[in-house]
Amino acid sequence: MKWLTIGAFAKACRLSPKALRLYDELDLLRPARVDPETGYRYYAAEQLEAARLVAWLRRLGMPLARIREVCGLPAGRAAQEIRAYWARVEAETAVRGDLAAFLVDHLSGESRRDTTAMLELRYAAHSDRGHVRPANQDTVYAGRRLLAVADGCGAAGASASAAAVRALKFLEDAELSAGNVLNLLDDAVRSAREAVREAAEGSTDAGTTLTALLWTGSRLALVHIGDSRAYLLRDGELFRITHDHSVVQSLIDEGRLAPEEAGSHPQRMLLAKALSGGASSGTPDLKLHEARGGDRYLLCSDGLSREVCDRRIRELLGGGGELADVARGLVDEANAVGGADNVSVVVADVVFATRPPASAG
Ligand code: MN
Repeated sequence: MKWLTIGAFAKACRLSPKALRLYDELDLLRPARVDPETGYRYYAAEQLEAARLVAWLRRLGMPLARIREVCGLPAGRAAQEIRAYWARVEAETAVRGDLAAFLVDHLSGESRRDTTAMLELRYAAHSDRGHVRPANQDTVYAGRRLLAVADGCGAAGASASAAAVRALKFLEDAELSAGNVLNLLDDAVRSAREAVREAAEGSTDAGTTLTALLWTGSRLALVHIGDSRAYLLRDGELFRITHDHSVVQSLIDEGRLAPEEAGSHPQRMLLAKALSGGASSGTPDLKLHEARGGDRYLLCSDGLSREVCDRRIRELLGGGGELADVARGLVDEANAVGGADNVSVVVADVVFATRPPASAG
């Protein structure tokens, strides 16, 4: 066997001797031999490949504990782990990207205010128990400024979803200035979380999803946690603007599950994030959407999105007539194909105001 001193080995694998000593302490990369007299570390040439992998994974930003796991795996499994790690990084970065866009948009939004001051919301909401569940644990709300869907779970699910939505209602009357929307939403989420915890009365299985839109006069701010959804219908095309926080979606993102297997996965109902009666339960996604006249938004619980495919949702959502009928049509469709879950929808149109707002006159 060919022995390399720590200096020579460090040079060959492009890690510093200091890093190598740390990795030794962390049991990440042990020297092949330590001289009992001098304490000098020696490495085997065969260890170079592992050391280089460690160096590359460090460059990827992988935490040391995770690197230790990856290095202990056969090549195929290691590849899978790296892929999963990167999918997670990308998902987290996407959420941070939304937040950055939100801030940029917000801080540069004042100048555009005049051009969009003539828009307002029209809305309708409908919720139904469905054909199977003994009670409706969903809560919907639609008002001048606030639209919300919450899907409660657990024994206290109905009070959890109701509490979450109630905690947001102060937003209807809150002072909205350019600088404070983000802080307001943060406060709203905090009080919703608190309210859910109280409603759960110590039962940790109780919780709720929350997907809400706040109208700022020119934009729609989205708060989202769980697997309820928000869609935007623009120019006849349907866009889903939320990402499901479900265990199954995480598995798909990480390449561990094919999308077509999702519907039959035993854990398909499990949420990766929610507002819950238990301890920490994840941070909601925040996004800001520029409002455009003619846009139609849909918020719905999974009782709709699990039962009715996107193509059919687009057809029904794009239908003419009263908004209330559109909302009812979507709920009826979910019930017609089985009504396996509570089903709730909020439908809202961004329309040109029929008369200028008072402040403009
Ligand atoms: Mn549901």
